[in-house]
Amino acid sequence: MRYDAVILGLGSFGSAAAAELASRGKRVLGLERFSIPNARGSHHGHSRVFRTAYFEHPDYVPLLRHAHRKWIDLDRRRGGGIFHQTGALYAGPRGCVTIEGASESARFHRLDVQRLTHADVSGRFKSFRLPPSFDAIWETAAGMIVPEAAVGAFARDALMKGADLRGHEAVLEWSADSSGVTVRTERAVHLADFLIIAAGAWSSRVVADLGIPLRVTRQVMAWYWPRRPALFGSPAFPVWAIESEDGRFHYGFPMVQHPPGLKIALHAHGDLVEPDDPDRSPRPGDEDQTRDALRRFLPDADGPLLSLAVCRYTNSPDGHLILDRHPIHSNVAIVCGCSGHGFKFAPVVGEILADLATAGGTAHRIGFLGLSRFARPSNP
Ligand SMILES: Cc1cc2nc3c(=O)[nH]c(=O)nc-3n(C[C@H](O)[C@H](O)[C@H](O)COP(=O)(O)OP(=O)(O)OC[C@H]3O[C@@H](n4cnc5c(N)ncnc54)[C@H](O)[C@@H]3O)c2cc1C
Repeated sequence: MRYDAVILGLGSFGSAAAAELASRGKRVLGLERFSIPNARGSHHGHSRVFRTAYFEHPDYVPLLRHAHRKWIDLDRRRGGGIFHQTGALYAGPRGCVTIEGASESARFHRLDVQRLTHADVSGRFKSFRLPPSFDAIWETAAGMIVPEAAVGAFARDALMKGADLRGHEAVLEWSADSSGVTVRTERAVHLADFLIIAAGAWSSRVVADLGIPLRVTRQVMAWYWPRRPALFGSPAFPVWAIESEDGRFHYGFPMVQHPPGLKIALHAHGDLVEPDDPDRSPRPGDEDQTRDALRRFLPDADGPLLSLAVCRYTNSPDGHLILDRHPIHSNVAIVCGCSGHGFKFAPVVGEILADLATAGGTAHRIGFLGLSRFARPSNP
C-alpha cells in the first residue's frame, strides 16, 4: 500500500502529526524504533512546562496561543490528565533574560500576565523565598503537560482514525524524488507521497546531509519529599521558573499523585552524549544541580531525594526549534533541535507538519524556525 505520509519517529511531534493527518482522512504510516510512548527519547519525566509569555522570542507566542487551545481541547476530550493549567511564577534578578524576555512577549502580544513585587510573592506564595532584588511575573495561562499521556493520546487518536502506527520498527534509511519517498525499515520497504522526520535526538543522523550540528545532551530531573508537603500541591503551589544571578535557570512543578515528590530540574546543557548510548542511569553528583536551588528558593521543600531520571535535549546551534521542509526534497518535512523547550508546541507542530504534507505550506508563521537561518554567507 502506498501512504499519503510516512512519519519517522512517534514521540512528541510525530504522534501529534499522526493524529492530525489521520483526522484529515489521510493514509498515515507512523514508525517508531521503541515503544509508543517510551523513556528512551525526550518525552518522559511526567511533566513539561507550558507557558506563553515566551522569553525566548515573541515570535513563538502566536504558535503558543494556538497550542494552548489545542492542549485544552485534547485534555477535555480525554477527560483530563494531560494539561493542568496551574499558572506559573517566573522570577529572577532585575533586568534578567527570563523576566525581560517574558515581559517583552507579553507586552507585544498583550498577554494576561501580572508583574509581582517581592511583597506580592511572599504574601501569595508561602513556599517561595526570593531575594528582595528579584522581580517576578505571574502568568495564568501557563501550566503543566503530562508528556507520556499526551503522546499516548495523540497515538490513540491517530489509531482510532485509521492510522497505521508501528512500534519497534526502526527506519534504517530513506530517499526521496519527485515521484515520492521510499523508507526502508528493519522489516519492510514503505512508499509514500510525503515523509515527516520527527526523530528527536536521532535527527542529526537522519538529516546528516544538511550539515547542521545538533548537540545531544544528558538532562537530569529530580524529585524530593518536601519537609512541609502541604505547601507544594496545586493550586497553592504553581509551575515555576527562577533565573539565578549567575544565569542558571531552575524550574519545577506542583506535587502530583504520581510519581511521589516535588519535581525540580536545571534548564542548561548537560553533558554531551551519543544518541544511541543506552545509559539513562543517574550518576553521583546529579543531585547537586538542583539541591542548592531547592535549599535557596524553596526551603520548606528541602527534604530527602526520592528519584532521579535522565532524559535528552537535542540542541540546535541557536537554541531555537527547527521546523521546515527539506531544502532539497520538497516532499520531506523536518522538526528537530528543540533545545529543551519543544514539548509545549507539540499539537501546533503536528498541525503544521500535516499542513506541509497535505497543502505544501501552512498559514502559521514559521519562517523564523526555518533551515535557511543556518545558511553560510557565500564567498564574495
Ligand atoms: C528533561 C527535559 C525537560 C524538558 N522540559 C520541557 C518543558 O518543560 N517544556 C517544553 O516545552 N519542553 C521541554 N522539554 C523538551 C521536549 O520534551 C522536547 O523538545 C520534545 O520532547 C522533543 O520531541 P521530539 O518529537 O523531537 O523527540 P521525541 O519525543 O524523543 O521523539 C522522537 C522519536 O523518534 C524515534 N526515532 C528516532 N529515530 C528513529 C528511527 N530511525 N526510526 C524510528 N523511530 C525513530 C525515537 O525513538 C523517539 O521516540 C524537555 C526535555 C527534557 C529532556
